[in-house]
Amino acid sequence: MNEASIQPEAPESPPTPTAHEEVSGESRSSRTKVFAVANQKGGVGKTTTVINLAAALAERELKILVIDLDPQANATSGLGFFQQEGGSLYRALIEKEDASKLIRSTVVDGVDIIPSELDLAGAEVDVARSDNYLHCVSEALKPVREQNTYDFVLIDCPPSLGILTMNALTAADALVVPMQCEYYALEGLNVIHRLIDQLHEGGANPQLRLEGILMTMFDARTNLATQVVKEVNRHFGERIYETVIPRNVRLGEAPSYGKPITHYAPHSAGAEAYRRFAEDFLKRQGIVSATAGNNDGKTSKYRVPVVNIHMIEGEAAAKTGSS
Ligand code: ATP
Ligand code: MG
Repeated sequence: MNEASIQPEAPESPPTPTAHEEVSGESRSSRTKVFAVANQKGGVGKTTTVINLAAALAERELKILVIDLDPQANATSGLGFFQQEGGSLYRALIEKEDASKLIRSTVVDGVDIIPSELDLAGAEVDVARSDNYLHCVSEALKPVREQNTYDFVLIDCPPSLGILTMNALTAADALVVPMQCEYYALEGLNVIHRLIDQLHEGGANPQLRLEGILMTMFDARTNLATQVVKEVNRHFGERIYETVIPRNVRLGEAPSYGKPITHYAPHSAGAEAYRRFAEDFLKRQGIVSATAGNNDGKTSKYRVPVVNIHMIEGEAAAKTGSS
């Protein structure tokens, strides 16, 4: 564990609001932040990240709304929710129904969802036909932003750069890109960069920022995973989150039980990695969490070692040196 990564903010900097303060009292007026979790590559851990980041943030007493924008509805089932006809965002997108009426609670305290169902599969075509077709999700989310009930909205995007993903990127304040530790990991990231530039230059979403890249499914036993992390770090160093999510059997099993990892296997390496990622996620936004298991800045409540980017870099350097 890199202890430097969990030290409190520098003392001379102005006091940073804790997550607790951020969600209570006056500062509540700060608006809900919307994050799209996207990568056009399939199976890289988008849905796993949305579900488990949401649950780990909720452990810190933050209020999270998950929007399942993928017709596969994996975030919906992964949060223990059954698809219901007419329950998806489709009605808000096409029939202009108030999106806040589509919100349902999940098995996880603090995590609500606007579920997906099959009708979203047709939404691409219907949204494309509507006026202002890039802004349908953004418009639908207006009441959610205005109500200011949530600290974060996490949008789980489908594995394409189709109209639903473009809408999510237009609606979002920022983008998180999960990237699998595999050979072709970097392929496609340039496309996402170009897309962000287009959304800036075209005026659809001049504020959108690439918040961070999360390396997923890291397998410490393979040299390839280590090399991939190094390579991505070389290209996008400052954008990569410190926490690296390991390949973990429990993470793969949890969705079939309709639970996030923090409920299904709270002591597992996967659960601890997503808790640590939640901490990274908040820190990058200048929020220091007041709650959760490892807030003494040194020890983890569950004492499961978590791999981070510096450890991998160090290990790779050691290997290179000895070979
Ligand atoms: P899609 O592009 O199809 O929406 P995705 O990017 O949302 O996929 P996930 O569904 O999160 O990817 O993950 C793909 C598969 O890998 C799932 O079966 C998931 O349970 C499994 N998985 C994700 N992350 C891990 C991990 N760290 N360790 C083990 N299995 C994982
Ligand atoms: Mg998915």
